[in-house]
Amino acid sequence: MKAVAVKPGTPNSVHLREIPEPNLSDVPNGRGVKVKVLKVGVDATDREINEALYGNPPEGDDYLVIGHECFGIVEEVGENVTHVVPGDYVTCTVRRPGGSIYDNIGRSDITSEEVYFERGINLLHGFMTEYFVDDAEFIVKMPLKLKHLHVLAEPMSCAAKAVQQAYDAQRRLQVWEPKLAFVMGAGQIGLLATLILKLRGLEVYTMARSPGPHLKQEIVDSLGAKFISTSETTPQELIEKLGRRPDLIVECTGSSKIAFQSMELIGHNGAVVWTSITGADNTVEIPADAINLHWVLGNKLLVGSVNANFRHFELGIQDLALGELTYPGVLEKILTNPVEGLDNYEEMMRLLVEEKDALKVFINVAEG
Ligand code: BGC
Ligand code: ZN
Repeated sequence: MKAVAVKPGTPNSVHLREIPEPNLSDVPNGRGVKVKVLKVGVDATDREINEALYGNPPEGDDYLVIGHECFGIVEEVGENVTHVVPGDYVTCTVRRPGGSIYDNIGRSDITSEEVYFERGINLLHGFMTEYFVDDAEFIVKMPLKLKHLHVLAEPMSCAAKAVQQAYDAQRRLQVWEPKLAFVMGAGQIGLLATLILKLRGLEVYTMARSPGPHLKQEIVDSLGAKFISTSETTPQELIEKLGRRPDLIVECTGSSKIAFQSMELIGHNGAVVWTSITGADNTVEIPADAINLHWVLGNKLLVGSVNANFRHFELGIQDLALGELTYPGVLEKILTNPVEGLDNYEEMMRLLVEEKDALKVFINVAEG
């Protein structure tokens, strides 16, 4: 069957290749699920993998099948699989367990091991192919009525985890009732985080550089949040205008500079969540004394959040469902750039790299 792969370590090596079709019996104990891939999304991680800034092939292979945002239909299940049946629409988690205690309790998303295994990213082949097989443990059912949001399930799981991490960590304060949130970045994670925070009743300002009107602004506004162009109003100016600092900042710009700048914005007892994966090696100067002083005096918290486990996928899917009921028709606007068929992988990469207005590039692999 066809698969889209890269040669990790070699920039711009994305290519189409033939790989063997997997079998249900590849997973022991009757726990296998065979999925026919319908759609695969790409994001900045795939761009960095193709730029050879990130990602490694499985041991023994010199190529990595990419694709970690998948949507498909169950084709076949092993005799011990009960939560999905053939014909169900599904997505699949990305990370696979290593050996730490967190991996053993189903929390590979917070593994304490340096080496992590992620399908389509690190040491495991991904989903940008025609079929995949995996353990039922990692297969997440998508409701029929969310079929049109398909590949948003994976980025939504990461956004859901990021917000939940902040709420979990803030239990340190005994009482935490955040009212004002800044979302830095209006890419897919920024927009999905905006949705999650609006559904929790916060006042949300979502920021990106370029001034509207544009699709990002339209989506932010439709979600009941406010779009701020940082080239028109800096976050500091916004704070002055509002007369208060945010209780929560979710940083998802992909820029480590803005991640650090967010530390200068957060209010007392506030939490900053970093979600950007920055594979390059940029450096930046920061006002370290001032940040240190205000963070200590304000009991502030910084939490990094990566990946998502089965439960975060479920949470994310629940919020997609609630979001669809609350703001009908808005979320599908994130799915901006479809590409027809695996054969068009070059067009997919071109859109991912060059199309600055693309919120989500995805491949329609098959009908279903
Ligand atoms: C993926 C996550 C993954 C992270 C780091 C993101 O693009 O969505 O699942 O953990 O990259 O590799
Ligand atoms: Zn991703």
